[in-house]
Amino acid sequence: MSLDWLRPADRLGSLPPYVFARLDELKAGARAKGVDLIDLGMGNPGGPTPAPVVEAAIAAIKDKNNHGYPPFEGTAGFRSTITDWYYRRYGVTLDPDGEALPLMGSKEGLGHLAMAYINPGDVVLVPTPSYPAHFRGPAIAGADIHTIQLKAENDWVLDFNDIPEELAKRAKVLYFNYPNNPTGATAPRSFFEEVVAFGRKHQILLIHDLCYAELAFEGYQPTSLLEIPGAKDISVEFHTLSKTYNMAGWRVGFVVGNRHVIQGLRTLKTNLDYGIFSALQTAAETALNLPDQYLEEVQQRYLTRRDFLVKALATLGWEVTKPEATMYLWVPCPSEISAADFAFLLLQKTGVVVTPGTAFGEGGEGYVRISLIAECDRLGEAVERFKQAGIRYSSVPASV
Ligand SMILES: *Cc1c(COP(=O)(O)O)cnc(C)c1O
Repeated sequence: MSLDWLRPADRLGSLPPYVFARLDELKAGARAKGVDLIDLGMGNPGGPTPAPVVEAAIAAIKDKNNHGYPPFEGTAGFRSTITDWYYRRYGVTLDPDGEALPLMGSKEGLGHLAMAYINPGDVVLVPTPSYPAHFRGPAIAGADIHTIQLKAENDWVLDFNDIPEELAKRAKVLYFNYPNNPTGATAPRSFFEEVVAFGRKHQILLIHDLCYAELAFEGYQPTSLLEIPGAKDISVEFHTLSKTYNMAGWRVGFVVGNRHVIQGLRTLKTNLDYGIFSALQTAAETALNLPDQYLEEVQQRYLTRRDFLVKALATLGWEVTKPEATMYLWVPCPSEISAADFAFLLLQKTGVVVTPGTAFGEGGEGYVRISLIAECDRLGEAVERFKQAGIRYSSVPASV
């Protein structure tokens, strides 16, 4: 019997692109052959969740008051911890009742916000390359997506001259993310002022993903969109505990900003989920209240790896910009080879897994993203394998 009648809804779009299927196949093949893979492909931080957070979770799990359904809008304790944290970090005042909403990870919220705010055919502006949830959510909602190419010559900061006036007039939503995944780029405060002026002028909902708020180095302080006067009227900002606090598996994030937008997201979510287990919200409070020393250690860890890998790649002819934040290096491919083919080649010849830039949209062509999720000895081993395989920035061996 044909299973055609069981095919998923059109809104799911086409199957995952060929590059992922092929990468997964090559990874599985290499593993089966016993290859010692160095997987620098994912954005999944390797270390354990900080001990005080785990301890707080254990105690909270034992408390029977946490065993029922959590409140739809998140616990009052976590919400006020979020707004206190915002005030401490950015000097931004938020109302814990309505301007902050806990999420089961920011990805969940980014996706659901698209469902809550985008009608089929609505014009949505998304930079390319960008984090996949920024275009997959709108795609599922049926948006008319217009991608805006980020450019190396602008240090990967969105240039408003690249958005035609006529398009800006029709647009309803703009997604953006600084410090940026996958490019590692940061945007100056003047960019945030510009984006608020742009959004106000054209009545565009601004969706800022600030997931790398705290993974910044050498004194660099990422800007919150909400620091800009007038931003709260037209924007929301997403955060995650996954990256900074090594809590990717716990599924805790949050969104703050415009209360009407947050209310819409909450209404959708009350029809789909009950939010995060209350015990984990208690643990998340502990994470946001960890002493600064914890953050400094995390930052130092990624900074050391960043400097180590940039230097090691330089010995093979690569000139890679040192990002001021995030846990990624955005590495140009040797010329004449596509991002996907370069990633396949690295995997086949060296067992090192990187993400082709095109995983983040067509604007990522010509680059691969390397995650700083391994210790320096493994990063060094990866570069040593490149060398052994004759892979340099100026030349790569013929692919297999
Ligand atoms: C990792 C990441 C997320 C997802 O975070 P979760 O809270 O774990 O869902 C969202 N946005 C960006 C830019 C990320 O890199």
